[in-house]
Amino acid sequence: METLPHWINGRPQSSKGDRKGDVFNPATGEVQKHVPYATVDEVDSAIGAASKALESWRHASLATRTRVLFAFRELMNTHKDEIAKQLTLEHGKVFSDAQGEVQRGLEVVEFACGLAHLLKGEISENVSTDVDSYSLRQPVGVVAGITPFNFPAMVPMWMYPLAIACGNTFVLKPSERDPSVTNMCAEMLAKAGVPEGVFNVVHGDKVAVDRLLTHPEVNAISFVGSTPIAKYIYETGTQHNKRVQALGGAKNHMVVLPDADMDLAADAAVGAGYGSAGERCMAISVLVTVGGAADKLLPKIRERIAELKVGNGLDPASQMGPLITRQHMEKVASYVAQGASEGADVLIDGRTLKVPGHERGFFLGPCLIDNVAPNMRIYQEEIFGPVLSVVRVETYDDAIRLIHEHQYANGTAIFTNDGGAARKFQHEIRVGMVGINVPIPVPMAYYSFGGWKQSLFGDLHIYGPDGVKFYTRNKVIINRWPDPRFRGVDLGFPQNR
Ligand code: NAD
Repeated sequence: METLPHWINGRPQSSKGDRKGDVFNPATGEVQKHVPYATVDEVDSAIGAASKALESWRHASLATRTRVLFAFRELMNTHKDEIAKQLTLEHGKVFSDAQGEVQRGLEVVEFACGLAHLLKGEISENVSTDVDSYSLRQPVGVVAGITPFNFPAMVPMWMYPLAIACGNTFVLKPSERDPSVTNMCAEMLAKAGVPEGVFNVVHGDKVAVDRLLTHPEVNAISFVGSTPIAKYIYETGTQHNKRVQALGGAKNHMVVLPDADMDLAADAAVGAGYGSAGERCMAISVLVTVGGAADKLLPKIRERIAELKVGNGLDPASQMGPLITRQHMEKVASYVAQGASEGADVLIDGRTLKVPGHERGFFLGPCLIDNVAPNMRIYQEEIFGPVLSVVRVETYDDAIRLIHEHQYANGTAIFTNDGGAARKFQHEIRVGMVGINVPIPVPMAYYSFGGWKQSLFGDLHIYGPDGVKFYTRNKVIINRWPDPRFRGVDLGFPQNR
């Protein structure tokens, strides 16, 4: 069976280590290939290639960097269906959703194509007599990216196009669950003209991650994944003097006020709750119904769930695919049992779902749980599966309090026809990304993405303007051309005149 190679210094490199993992097709439960777990030497060799490439890439002209990014964009665009298909085969999400993932990643590449504009500094003339001052943004150096399984194409593309555009070199450690699309992207970057060593891939697990976190030649780390690991990455990386942004888990609440358009809210709740089998960090996992909203909304949600087609993501009729692994499927199912034992009402139980012809696949049907209370584990923890919990509250203020008391603050949404209520919500809610009658408010590539509280460790959000700041260091220059009037030794602190 095939073992995927790493990608080091512009070419595939077979692993010399003996540790490896299985890559499943989640729809069939079969192992399709193996993924190597990099040794420390292999990680060192990728970092070495990135360090060497940095010597010239940091000096590459903006024109050169722009050209390769445009070429990469064209290649990605031409091959996006192949990438999407590979993504469905290893992640399980339905093909149309995989196409959407690739498209949203491409938008970051398009943003990075404008790097010449993004990297402009500032200039002030005559800060003192005949003295000018200006600022430059320069690359931070070797950047490492560590990414999760749920967006194997898009999340790495939140990182490397911008990091490379800014003149850095990159080592990516993608998720070991669905690693193949990363190698496809590496090949396209090389074809687009990205020089050897500028983009490297090491596959692996904690051994590879720990080496990236502690290696003295890695200058910055972008991480996206679960909160316990994000916290570990942030603490370890910063202890080793690296700039770190670490995006963590989520529990996104969708508040439905009694005046909302209930058909719109039901469509949104089902789409955002069960799309990609709930394995999105921006999935809606808690519906907060205010006043009498639940009684109007829940029948509409039940109708829509009854119509959902769960199956192999490559079947065009499927709307929801399997979960990533059997172990994860069992964990998600255990939350449903836990909710029932804690006193919540399981209105729809997806654990009974069978997908004909795919009996060994990791399928779990949509689950809807009503009367969930804030002290229950299913409310407090991230489930990351097709489980939508309903918490009923009396007032708008109760809804706000609930969200503010939760440990996560990645995204949230409000559904209402009252502009004043929506305006109040956007102003006072303490969450990083907010939707108004929009359930999955993922920012465009020219804004930045990030949550608050336990959903992000670090100061800057990812991609967009924050991404440019994260991948560059600021340098300020003060410039005076020699002028005979200002000769002579002066031990005083420089003053502006
Ligand atoms: P994960 O935290 O298990 O893994 C993420 C990465 O960390 C992987 O590359 C993995 O190999 C590595 N890793 C795992 N355990 C490690 C350890 N002990 N030490 C060092 N490295 C380790 O996350 P996942 O299951 O792949 O992805 C799902 C999680 O990612 C969810 O919690 C989801 O909310 C989160 N996520 C967040 C965002 C966001 O933008 N905030 C986006 C996507 C996913």
